[in-house]
Amino acid sequence: MEFSKLKSWVSGSNDSFFPIQNLPLGVFSTKENGMKRICSRIGDYVIDLSLLHEEKFLNIQSIQQSHLKNEFLNDLIRLGKNVSTELRNQLIELFSNEGNSGLTNLIKCLISIHECSLHLPIQIGDYTDFYSSREHATNVGIMFRDPANALMPNWLHLPVGYHGRASSIVVSGTEIQRPSGQIVIKDGEAPVYSKSRQLDFELEMAFVIGKENRMGDPIPIQNSIDHICGFMLFNDWSARDIQKWEYVPLGPFLGKNFASTISPWLVSLEALAEFKCNGPDQTPTPLSYLNPEAERNFDIQLEIFINDTKICTSNTKYLYWSISQQLAHHTVNGCNMRIGDLCASGTISGPESTSYGSMLELAWKGTKPIVLNDGTTRTFLQDGDRIKMIAFAQNDNYKIGFGSCEGRII
Ligand code: MN
Repeated sequence: MEFSKLKSWVSGSNDSFFPIQNLPLGVFSTKENGMKRICSRIGDYVIDLSLLHEEKFLNIQSIQQSHLKNEFLNDLIRLGKNVSTELRNQLIELFSNEGNSGLTNLIKCLISIHECSLHLPIQIGDYTDFYSSREHATNVGIMFRDPANALMPNWLHLPVGYHGRASSIVVSGTEIQRPSGQIVIKDGEAPVYSKSRQLDFELEMAFVIGKENRMGDPIPIQNSIDHICGFMLFNDWSARDIQKWEYVPLGPFLGKNFASTISPWLVSLEALAEFKCNGPDQTPTPLSYLNPEAERNFDIQLEIFINDTKICTSNTKYLYWSISQQLAHHTVNGCNMRIGDLCASGTISGPESTSYGSMLELAWKGTKPIVLNDGTTRTFLQDGDRIKMIAFAQNDNYKIGFGSCEGRII
């Protein structure tokens, strides 16, 4: 049967964000069994992959229990894309074939998502944050520099980025403590030590490295997809007042590294294959090592909620620089990427004011407060606010969801 028309016998899964076409990878535990282990997901069920392996439903020579009874996905990813593809294909066969729907030993590998805790699935090595949305870079340039020259001269020639910090990347659901630091309350005055008064989020999509390159060997753009094992939704929490004072001349530091949140599921490129789309026109034409393919972007809808009020609808298709261009540029100098490294896109803003991916832009530097459903307003985030981001791709046959990327400010 045609892949996009495939259905699963797992009840409720076909219309959910986790149909048979998705099958993301994650790490879970339950109350009864606190050991972290590798899983996939279908509908409202976690698929316990180590149990599935123990029950001999998986038949892949290179996959052993140690890859699945593991608190991170890195060892499984290290086996290579052929192995993850084979794993995915065997899951598709197991859960689409009606004949399997009565197998007790298979059904016991499905655990209700409500009984599971999901954990940070990747042991993240290095983390890089790009700045790849033209709309976001333009908005920030207008607010902080010069409306006539909003983009810096390098911006249309290369995907700008900085090296962030992996230690403070946490999984969805982790509470976020408001950071303190140096802030300047009135321009021209001396800084004070204070809690941040301008706490913000940044709506981003991140990709994970699944194949290494040797130091000194750039990853050519046409091979870049081989090195990427999947996507995760990402919130790059930002303290704008700390950032504004500290960033000159070396860039973001303590305004960024106190916390970032990722969604719990690694969504494969195969699950998103049907959602490739054209990127924005690139003029001037980038140098040849960044040579863009036509279909280099993905059509993935993004939404942000503050305490259940939807405040933004954006899309990864707006990104000016594609993930392939980001990775080709990151390694053009010979920088070596390692399995589990994470690269985030930068805030993804669209052309409409309702598609801006940060409070800084949505409330335009505090000048246009956002009204929530309960009648209260926000220019930046308050203590107790819950920020939820979701992402999903959708066609006539199915939806691919990412799970939510959530955090409450304390
Ligand atoms: Mn960012």
